[in-house]
Amino acid sequence: MNSRLAFWLPAMLRLFGVLMLSSVIGFFFGSISGLVAAALALAFIALMQLSYLYRLNSWLDDPDSARLPDGWGAWTDVFSRLYRMRRDDEKHQTELIEWLARFRQAMSLLPDGVVIMDDVLFLEWCNPAAERHLGLKLDRDEGMRVTNLIRNPDFMDYIILGRYEQPLILALKDRKLILQIIPFENRRQILVTHDATESERIEMMRRDFIANASHELRTPLTVINGFLEIAYLQPNLDSQTRMSHLKLMAEQGQRMQNLVEDMLTLTRLESVDYPMRPERVAIHSLLEQIQQEAEALSAGKHTITLHVDGPDINGSTDELRSAFGNLVSNAVRYTPTDGAIKISWIEANSGPQFIVQDNGIGIRPEHISRLTERFYRVDKSRSRETKGTGLGLAIVKHVLLRHSAALVIESTQGEGSLFKVKFPSNAVHHPQPVDQAS
Ligand code: ADP
Repeated sequence: MNSRLAFWLPAMLRLFGVLMLSSVIGFFFGSISGLVAAALALAFIALMQLSYLYRLNSWLDDPDSARLPDGWGAWTDVFSRLYRMRRDDEKHQTELIEWLARFRQAMSLLPDGVVIMDDVLFLEWCNPAAERHLGLKLDRDEGMRVTNLIRNPDFMDYIILGRYEQPLILALKDRKLILQIIPFENRRQILVTHDATESERIEMMRRDFIANASHELRTPLTVINGFLEIAYLQPNLDSQTRMSHLKLMAEQGQRMQNLVEDMLTLTRLESVDYPMRPERVAIHSLLEQIQQEAEALSAGKHTITLHVDGPDINGSTDELRSAFGNLVSNAVRYTPTDGAIKISWIEANSGPQFIVQDNGIGIRPEHISRLTERFYRVDKSRSRETKGTGLGLAIVKHVLLRHSAALVIESTQGEGSLFKVKFPSNAVHHPQPVDQAS
């Protein structure tokens, strides 16, 4: 049955019933009684309709306060449809609230900032990243003009020029931000902020590294090219001069090789494709080898002692040889003739420790925190004189990072230095128990 018929049929039947009843009453009790009965019945029906209309009206005034009234006749259908509409509406509202909560949670996890503004830049909403980047506080700043909150001349110019297809790079509170405004809907705009401080820092480090490495390679290359040019232009040089030129060229060639090797080592240590495969590091024999190499480097100019009183550890022998070797060779290179160098391996409460102590030239305090930066040298000419690449302590830092170890440097200028490597106690190697059954 279609809905129009369903609505009209019972009403017509009811009207027909009233007419029939009043006709019967009129037939038996006279026409006046019939008319009165018909009028009474119609008045009753009208009253009923009015009472339902009144109940519907009161419910519509405050739908939350009362239950939807039960109906009669066509009202049953009206009320049940209204009830269904209300239930659907409540369901949609709940879904909308849940969706909004999910949206807000996702927005709060975003590393990029999102600010929603109206067409005249009044703040409507922003996520926590935008609060951090721009120094906003949603509770405090909602409804305020964004240009009054972000007081920066470049940002003002960006807004005035309105060239929103281009992002704006802004230095704000020690941060490098990339901002862009995206108009959406007719009367709203989104301001997106991206913190580029870290990527900018890495990019700068990369640029510095390339510049430094090129500079370091250029110096020995210039020396070698100079001697080659002399050899070419003056073929009759006496053999003694020629030999001294060849010696200097060989030294510069060696310097370039050391540099390239150190750069490759650093790149490998930083690479994620080069995971560490821990093995048992036989500390005693490793440190004995390092002591012998140090003695060869010192050529008898220093007293080098070794004291080992600690357990073996788990780690990479090659990487630790490189890190410990760099620390010991630094001690030799920065300690004048007749100096003393002590190498020790001990077990402290916090875990094993490798210590190199010298009584060499020492380091002024302002340099200490920067020593592990690539190519950082306290005294460039001294480092070159002693065949340093400026990458030794950067390599040490990366190796220790991979071993969860920490480097502590104590030094007094003119008195000497102490480089201490602290390993965590879980680095200690525990031999596997021997299987009794086998
Ligand atoms: P380099 O190849 O120049 O020695 P490193 O990275 O090994 O580079 O060391 C960085 C700088 O730290 C050195 O140039 C030197 O100035 C300083 N340094 C390192 N070890 C010592 C030490 N034992 N005594 C004094 N200065 C040191």
